[in-house]
Amino acid sequence: MDINKIREDFPILSEQVYNRPLVYFDNAATTQKPWPVIHCLEEGYRRHNANVHRGIHFLSQTATEAHEAARARVRDFLHAASAEEIVFTRGTTESVNLVAFSFGETFCREGDEIVVTVMEHHSNIVPWQMLCERRKMHLKVVPMNDRGELLLEEYEKLLTPRTRLVAVAHVSNVLGTVNPVGEMIAAAHRRGIPVFVDGAQAVPHLKVDVQALDADFYAFSAHKVYGPTGLGVLYGKKRWLEQMQPYQGGGEMIDQVRFEKTTYNALPYKFEAGTPDFIGTTALAAALDFVETLGMDCIAEYESQLLHYTEERLSALPGLKIYGQAAHKSAVVSFRMGDIHPYDTGLLLDKLGVAVRTGHHCAQPLMERLGIDSCVRASLSFYNTREETDILCAALERIRKMF
Ligand code: PMP
Repeated sequence: MDINKIREDFPILSEQVYNRPLVYFDNAATTQKPWPVIHCLEEGYRRHNANVHRGIHFLSQTATEAHEAARARVRDFLHAASAEEIVFTRGTTESVNLVAFSFGETFCREGDEIVVTVMEHHSNIVPWQMLCERRKMHLKVVPMNDRGELLLEEYEKLLTPRTRLVAVAHVSNVLGTVNPVGEMIAAAHRRGIPVFVDGAQAVPHLKVDVQALDADFYAFSAHKVYGPTGLGVLYGKKRWLEQMQPYQGGGEMIDQVRFEKTTYNALPYKFEAGTPDFIGTTALAAALDFVETLGMDCIAEYESQLLHYTEERLSALPGLKIYGQAAHKSAVVSFRMGDIHPYDTGLLLDKLGVAVRTGHHCAQPLMERLGIDSCVRASLSFYNTREETDILCAALERIRKMF
């Protein structure tokens, strides 16, 4: 990969902050956008803007074709069996809420159980908790070891005849652990239990094949995979989506509306009430083209080397502790440096031009398990370089000396 050439595709990477070149290590929160995505958004509003599905005029038809071509692009990217299984949402969070509500309405009863893991993002905890409260159900939690790997034996023990669904992150946004979701899905399926996979942190870094995984549901956010904000995807197996109640009511999701009774549209429109983000979907397709042109395998290889380099350099700093040492890790390093509060570290790093994230990373139960209230997270992308890691380490060294 020619990193310098790749970096030229991301205009923001040549910005300065506080008169220093920007070093952007907050990619798990959101990724920067390449020119093809920016151009697609601009062209969409400038030349192709018209509401989809309803218009008979030229612009509406071309917008509809582009929107549906984007759905086909996502189907191809995830290797789903059919475009009917690709639902556009506002993001991973809405995808989880959709399944928690619609699957819950149809399949869950008092006394049933949902299994999540200790390392989930709040968005893959709270919607399930809300379902459990609505239906008087129980939430069960898969534990992990100190390296940040799920305990699979304990996981299997948690699967019972009352388990209605397992919800698990493919990749942890704090620890970087790549969970063995294929194995976990197989174990659940042996008991007839479907699995929801939160792929928010996996899709930007790994090749994902929902059919090979045999995932029942798989969610991701466009903005974390170099696409636009406010847009996400829910993949769901047709046989589940068909049986599930709609999530929201409105235009698009209906077949016939009568005051006596309304019937619903076919998949995936049954789950897409209202005007979709049809400009965003075409920009997401451009983002997926961009990463697949680089090659997901090349991205994974490059990021893995950069991760090892970054972990090696960071762990050489006195008093620095890394959280998350799983055997199979994605491009995230979370750490604390001695007694220095992560907030102070993050604030000072910012003044030195380095953008990282500090706090609980929307994973308070995980923080509790780790015995900390917060940490600093450097999350990497294929456009980051070893020189940027060196800048981060030099800045940390400087901060350490200040305290
Ligand atoms: N799950 C994980 C693992 C995440 O990292 C995030 C975003 N930080 C989300 C879910 C939620 O994504 P969004 O805010 O785009 O809906």
